[in-house]
Amino acid sequence: MNILVTGGAGYIGSHTCIALVKAGHSVIIADNLSNSKSKTVMKIMDIVEEGVNFHKIDVTEEVAVEMIFRNYNIDGVIHFAGLKAAGESVEKPIEYYYNNLVSTMVLTKVCQKYGVNRFVFSSSATVYGDNNVPFVENMELLPTTNPYGETKAMSERILTDIANANPLFSVALLRYFNPVGAHESGLIGESPNGIPNNLMPYVTQVAKGKLETLRVFGNDYPTVDGTGVRDYIHVLDLAEGHVAALVNLTKGVHVYNLGTGKGTSVLELVNAFELANGVGIPYEIVERRHGDIASCYADATKAKRELGWVAKRDLITMCRDAWRFEKNYKE
Ligand code: NAD
Ligand code: UDP
Repeated sequence: MNILVTGGAGYIGSHTCIALVKAGHSVIIADNLSNSKSKTVMKIMDIVEEGVNFHKIDVTEEVAVEMIFRNYNIDGVIHFAGLKAAGESVEKPIEYYYNNLVSTMVLTKVCQKYGVNRFVFSSSATVYGDNNVPFVENMELLPTTNPYGETKAMSERILTDIANANPLFSVALLRYFNPVGAHESGLIGESPNGIPNNLMPYVTQVAKGKLETLRVFGNDYPTVDGTGVRDYIHVLDLAEGHVAALVNLTKGVHVYNLGTGKGTSVLELVNAFELANGVGIPYEIVERRHGDIASCYADATKAKRELGWVAKRDLITMCRDAWRFEKNYKE
């Protein structure tokens, strides 16, 4: 299939492009490089050698998106493009609502015009809010604490309404848990701008000496050791989950958790990182971070049952691959 991958130069998108080509598909990347670099596209091309085209466009611009549908025989869309920093979304709600919602509407509008009925959307476990763990797909969604989370819940709703109106439309809403790690080549991985918000990139930068001490946000949660629990998933497993969703997609709306089903605390992750890489991570316990929940992990059985997909890579592999990338990485 020819798959349009919006946001394909980004962290999850770049790994998914590799998984798609490895599975025999061709990818057309549409990315405005607002949070990624063209050299990542070159590295994807180095890794897979063929089957990748790149267009620097903004997917909120209908004319630019339509040009791609006119030039390629698109069979399906995986829509990663979006702004993703929950904290920043509180400061910049208009940018977040505009970018994340208009992109979804423009893409689906052009899909309808060109008869493209296969659509895979990057949603997030954030739509579960503070439900009880493990999170199951049919749970009632709870309000999220920021505009970013709202854009995910709203996009899910928009796509569901489109599928209800068009019986030919097939959509997979993929709720990601916490992607970490990097391609085993060490060529592509997560390289956030500025000081990282997320735990793993913060840890790798402490390991590298770029940052001094990890601040652990709270140790008084009702969890195994008081620190926050998350479901860390290797980005390559997540990427393979997209291929499975795309290939097995049938008409209607299908929601899948992409996680491992296993919760890991902050201190457990730090220990695993030290063990995997033989590098010490100095840390201090500080106040809880505003808006954090205690525990977030998936019930991952539906994706296994319906897509035949399970996350295979363990926490040690995640830590090793994340560190290999960071060690090699130059700004
Ligand atoms: P990323 O920022 O690395 O990738 C997103 C890409 O989209 C970037 O390359 C950026 O340049 C591009 N982009 C943004 N707006 C665009 C636009 N209007 N037109 C074209 N390109 C645009 O982020 P990621 O971590 O790879 O996340 C991918 C998707 O997965 C996002 O939708 C994100 O919200 C979602 N998600 C991520 C996580 C996570 O922890 N990383 C968790 C849950 C969901
Ligand atoms: N965390 C931390 N220090 C950091 C970054 C994160 O203690 O510098 C904790 C955070 O409180 C949460 C877990 O690590 O319990 C995962 O945080 P992240 O931001 O990576 O993911 P999210 O909270 O969005 O699931």
